[in-house]
Amino acid sequence: MKKPIIIAGPCSAESREQLRQTVAQLSKLPNISMIRAGVWKPRTRPGSFEGLGEPALGWMQELQSEHGIPFCCEVARPEHIELCSRYDINSVWLGARTTANPFMVEELCEALRGSNIKVMVKNPLNPDVRLWLGAIERLLQCGITVSAAIHRGFSMYDNRGYRNDPLWEVPMELRRLMPDLPLLCDPSHIAGHSDLVPSVANAAMQLGFDGLMVEVHSKPESALTDAQQQLTPQTLADILSSLPERNIATTSDGPALDMLRDKIDSIDHELIQLLGSRMTVSRQIAEIKRQSGMSVYQPKRWEAILLDRLQQAESLGLDQSFMKELLEKIHGESVRVQMS
Ligand code: PEP
Ligand code: MN
Repeated sequence: MKKPIIIAGPCSAESREQLRQTVAQLSKLPNISMIRAGVWKPRTRPGSFEGLGEPALGWMQELQSEHGIPFCCEVARPEHIELCSRYDINSVWLGARTTANPFMVEELCEALRGSNIKVMVKNPLNPDVRLWLGAIERLLQCGITVSAAIHRGFSMYDNRGYRNDPLWEVPMELRRLMPDLPLLCDPSHIAGHSDLVPSVANAAMQLGFDGLMVEVHSKPESALTDAQQQLTPQTLADILSSLPERNIATTSDGPALDMLRDKIDSIDHELIQLLGSRMTVSRQIAEIKRQSGMSVYQPKRWEAILLDRLQQAESLGLDQSFMKELLEKIHGESVRVQMS
């Protein structure tokens, strides 16, 4: 059983006192690997707290040597890298807004070239695994050590109750593409509210994430940024003590799992066969539509299909929004095939 990597600390470094208090409490927990604190804050609207910059780095350097725990912060500009080096901050992360911008990533690569700073890369705001991968690849190409990818959820039109929708399939795809890169989850920015942080952290560990980056503040209610989602050190301790064991085995000795996996394999093959047959029929329909001058997309027919299939799905206890998304994907592909 591998121990999870736990990075914890305030959203922002706000004062020497706030940082000292938070770190003093966190350092008593048995399994904190690193302390996070935001020094430069990318705010959505102007006029709000934007981080303290250099003075905060001085306090971080002090506490780092006092407690012997490494610190990390977000960097977005070449000057930030230079300041981090000056204050012995040897781990940094690229925030969601930076990862989304290849120009900024390139600039940071140049600033980091030749330094011993390790970089963690948060996912971009939009659910585009290639953009996430691209930022990591750019850093690696410059010879920079990428120590982890951090999943912080995605900004969507409908966030389904989260601040940032986790869309777990995206980090799972990154894991498939880069199986050796440690993958952390930031349940704080996914949840957006402290009440929801434990269940997101739990889900991440069940999915085999290597650890967590969690926002923790000695007095969350008075935090200058992200007050709603920050945990007290005690709440973090409770979460950590009840986290599911991180089981990294990929096989099981018992025959039961193998049998069920065989079943899943054959069901998947059947599904793909069926989709193939559906597309063949779809092409035949396209031909008839073309001959009779009908348009490819028939909204009434589509609505009837959707209604009928969703009713069937409901009777089987299948999730309605999942089924709707799946049917829309299948229908969309059918329309595309009919047009080509
Ligand atoms: C943060 O970690 O405080 C932060 C701003 O994160 P993100 O880039 O994920 O929004
Ligand atoms: Mn934050």
